[in-house]
Amino acid sequence: TDPALIRNFCIIAHIDHGKSTLADRMLQLTGIVEERQMRAQYLDRMDIERERGITIKSQAVRLPWKPTEEADAAAAPHILNMIDTPGHVDFTYEVSRSLAACEGCVLLVDAAQGIEAQTLANLYLAMEHDLTIIPVLNKIDLPAAQPEKFAAELAHLIGCEPEDVLKVSAKTGEGVGALLDEVVRQVPAPVGVADAPARAMIFDSVYDAYRGVVTYVKVVDGKLGRRERIRMMSTGATHELLEIGTNAPEMTAADGLGVGEVGYLITGVKDVRQSKVGDTVTQQNKGAEEPLAGYKDPKPMVFSGLYPLDGSDYPELREALHKLQLNDAALSFEPETSAALGFGFRVGFLGLLHLEVIRERLEREFNLDLIATAPNVIYQVRMEDGTEHTVTNPTEFPVGKIAEVEEPMVRATLLAPSEFVGAIMELCQARRGNLQGMDYLSEDRVELRYTLPLAEIVFDFFDALKSKTRGYASLDYEPTGEQVADLVKVDILLQGDKVDAFSAIVHKDKAYSYGVRMATKLRELIPRQQFEVPIQAAVGSRVIARETVRAIRKDVLAKCYGGDISRKRKLLEKQKEGKKRMKVVGRVEVPQEAFIAALSSD
Ligand code: GDP
Ligand code: MG
Repeated sequence: TDPALIRNFCIIAHIDHGKSTLADRMLQLTGIVEERQMRAQYLDRMDIERERGITIKSQAVRLPWKPTEEADAAAAPHILNMIDTPGHVDFTYEVSRSLAACEGCVLLVDAAQGIEAQTLANLYLAMEHDLTIIPVLNKIDLPAAQPEKFAAELAHLIGCEPEDVLKVSAKTGEGVGALLDEVVRQVPAPVGVADAPARAMIFDSVYDAYRGVVTYVKVVDGKLGRRERIRMMSTGATHELLEIGTNAPEMTAADGLGVGEVGYLITGVKDVRQSKVGDTVTQQNKGAEEPLAGYKDPKPMVFSGLYPLDGSDYPELREALHKLQLNDAALSFEPETSAALGFGFRVGFLGLLHLEVIRERLEREFNLDLIATAPNVIYQVRMEDGTEHTVTNPTEFPVGKIAEVEEPMVRATLLAPSEFVGAIMELCQARRGNLQGMDYLSEDRVELRYTLPLAEIVFDFFDALKSKTRGYASLDYEPTGEQVADLVKVDILLQGDKVDAFSAIVHKDKAYSYGVRMATKLRELIPRQQFEVPIQAAVGSRVIARETVRAIRKDVLAKCYGGDISRKRKLLEKQKEGKKRMKVVGRVEVPQEAFIAALSSD
């Protein structure tokens, strides 16, 4: 295809603003999906995405489009490559690679809701990539829509005229044809060097049980052809191109892909880690010398211990994690043992949603009942003797003379009605946040920008934010490096023995409240024994809180499990079956359920 006829674009939207519905309309309008094959959210393929209404993996689909104004028979149809970006913050790097494959983007905003945090965070990324931005209001069919108000807001934000904001209904299809025309008119055609060695950027790779890894690329320079031998520039690994083609919308083989084209490659590899997002593909012989800019290794940001509720499920858990890893280059894990929870794995995730998605898939697709320890971030610890430690598990926090500890930071974008500014500032302050800037998008909507320690967000920040703003605030964030902080490890001891699953790394000023909270919780949860059980919280050898479970046997399991109802019910059923598993810590017998309850947030 002549690059002049190609337009590569993506749709940026806050969750529920109608991205998938708009994509569906585009598939229909360009005639590549017939009416009777059409099902809602055609492109959201994963079950869990469908149910939760989130897009986890991106896809690219090729749409033929004859602009309506020049729709005479002679005009060549344009090729629109629509690249669906993962919407969530955890996947910032993948979003950035999808954006890097585009020359323009559609900024889609719900005409009844207005701009939200995810809209902004993705818009900033799009601006960093110099994309042409087409502002669009969706859902204009809704009675509650306020297109004029939000057109002004959008125009103000990106610096255009309110009249330039397109208005569509993805539901009825109104305005969608005009939008595709604007994509052709406004988005620049891709440019590249046709006779140079091939350079194609990987923006996604997906494992398919039948075909192996399917790698999505945008060809920047040169051409890749079927049966050619290719080389991955980050590793030097070479493969044969068994198949190359485009999604239209199902995989359709082609002879090759040239400058500006977007499509897929199949080489027969079975593991997405051999086809890394951000990497450059070139020919094995006479290939390019310089890879495209921007490659990064996926880096887990959040860690949690995952343990099977039933210890005999351990091999299945390992098997399941291996399977998930085939399709998820950012998932890492290694075995770990906990005195309280038995055999399990320390698992690394990109962020909280990633953790939740993996956990849910393990429980749902692999039928495993799991216990997860409280998520923690990764710390760099420098000792006075010059040695350094990377800590992904609080129990590994080194003892001895520590010079300094670094923790990961994020740049957060918060958006809310102006009446909640005070509440948000209070919350961010309590979480060690630093206000970087504040803007009024309109009279009654404010954007706040903070840097915050990731550790302060991973636990329950989002819930706290929602409850302080009656659900009106939205949040997005991205990593921005590390910062030195005054951090200590708090241990919890039962009768003098450390309970590893409860060790936590917290800011010095919060050590006391963490210690008191855990000690109190455990006192309520641990059944009385024949003897007294002291519970202590300690920083190093210094005890900062103490509770006691008094003697006298009384076998009542505490009333309150945190967490959701179904999990609670499951636990109670297990218990009824008489399979009450006791863990022995030192001399103390503790029902496993008590550990689980103590680990859930309150
Ligand atoms: P996404 O999260 O951005 O992919 O949003 P979806 O496409 O899943 O849409 C979220 C909800 O908004 C769904 O219930 C859609 O049916 C609805 N929706 C999307 N577009 C429109 C529209 O133009 N009008 C109306 N009334 N509803 C819409
Ligand atoms: Mg969607």
